[in-house]
Amino acid sequence: MEYKKNDILTVEIEDIGNGGEGIGKVEGYTLFIKDAVIGDTVRCKVMKAKKNYAYARLEEIIVPSDVRTEPPCRYHRQCGGCQIQAMNYPAQLAFKQKKVKNSLIRIGGFPEETVERVMEPIVGMENAYRYRNKAQYPVGPDKEGNPVAGFYAGRTHDIVVNTDCVLGAEENKEILESILAYMKRCHIPAYDEKTGDGLVRHVLIRKGFASGEIMVCLVINYDGKKGRKAGGGKNGSFLPSQEELIKALEKIHGMTSVSICINTDRTNVIMGDKVYTIWGKDKICDTIYRRNTMDFSLTGDGIVFYISPLSFYQVNPVQTEKLYSLVLEYAGLSGKETVWDLYCGIGTISLFLAEKAKQVYGVEVVAQAVLDAKENAACNGIDNAEFFVGKAEDILSEKYGEKGTGADVIVVDPPRKGCDKECLATMLKMHPEKIVYVSCDPATLARDLRVLCDGGYELKKVRAVDQFGGTVHVEVACCLQRTSRVN
Ligand code: SAH
Repeated sequence: MEYKKNDILTVEIEDIGNGGEGIGKVEGYTLFIKDAVIGDTVRCKVMKAKKNYAYARLEEIIVPSDVRTEPPCRYHRQCGGCQIQAMNYPAQLAFKQKKVKNSLIRIGGFPEETVERVMEPIVGMENAYRYRNKAQYPVGPDKEGNPVAGFYAGRTHDIVVNTDCVLGAEENKEILESILAYMKRCHIPAYDEKTGDGLVRHVLIRKGFASGEIMVCLVINYDGKKGRKAGGGKNGSFLPSQEELIKALEKIHGMTSVSICINTDRTNVIMGDKVYTIWGKDKICDTIYRRNTMDFSLTGDGIVFYISPLSFYQVNPVQTEKLYSLVLEYAGLSGKETVWDLYCGIGTISLFLAEKAKQVYGVEVVAQAVLDAKENAACNGIDNAEFFVGKAEDILSEKYGEKGTGADVIVVDPPRKGCDKECLATMLKMHPEKIVYVSCDPATLARDLRVLCDGGYELKKVRAVDQFGGTVHVEVACCLQRTSRVN
């Protein structure tokens, strides 16, 4: 059966797609329906029809799903950041577990029995909201030209006013409102994307959940010359009446660093590359603690990180601790091993593992992240972690065969597109005892696991960790064991 635009259909939702849309079938014809959740029976209107599938608009929920819940954020439909807030948390977890399982079976070609045997239950959050330690709010003018902050309405650049995203820290609201009040009082114009005029573009807020330290960074469209005329000075006044801003922000509990980031480009990129601290410290610190993987209770032992506005840092620190503690367990270190941590970012996993290994080598393509990794190693007194800047695939083949760089364990944590083919091939040539694969995309994970298993490895354990409640994203850690020598 094929349907056409404006057809009205009734369908039961069976699954959720990658973009968070509900998926249902009518006589083998697939419908993608935004805002419908698994278990709903809905009436929908076909908007865009193809031969085997269509995008349809939700017209009415005829029978609501048992797992439907009142979403905590009233903007969730407009925002699109949280696609599955209307599903209760246990149902979100079940959906993510199934998504990983199905990818391993369908894309990875692993038998269902194997997948069932190796998969452990997904690790959920105790609190599925307020988990993000980082927020980036766009600032712009409303119709009257007053500054407002919020988020871009799904796929557009129209700002929907909301200073309290339920995923972020409680303090964000007060910080944003203080900044907006200062802007109004001192007549600081918000940046207008359409004209390129105005000053304040974005507000970045970061909070160290372990330390309580808060960092605020205002991204401004500032031209050096004009700014200095506006009242510069050695310590750089970037904004008119800047002291008023500082007075408002320093009152906020935990405030540790206030900075300005310059971005005068007419682009979608949020941050510029120059940052100036205007109050407090340049960096905030935070600790990532090791946890017992039995019950994920804290061990009291962790790694300290110093974070600047431009640093990459995991956004859900509690779940990150759980994920990395699993990585540590899967790596099974005794203290004698040489470990490679590929796609290492600021060395979070490398440093987590270093204390339990003989030597760790981290590889990361972003030079600044490697500088951060080295600094973090030094701050923690870790001297057995070395970092290389470059692509994992290049560095690994360059170092392959060099004395002392052989791997007992290789950890990979690639971006969504997964590992490069050459990287996988070199990993197989290095034949480490164990490979720990951390992934944020079950599809590319399954594809790469197939290559590794065909190359002499056995999938021992798979465990998903929910880092992003309310959204469709899921992280997975996998443990692979060498079964044969491949050369
Ligand atoms: N393991 C880190 C970061 C993981 S995110 C952590 O947990 O914090 C993936 C990282 O891979 C990013 O830092 C990205 O810059 C890096 N990256 C992307 N492509 C790469 C490549 N080909 N080689 C090495 N690193 C790469």
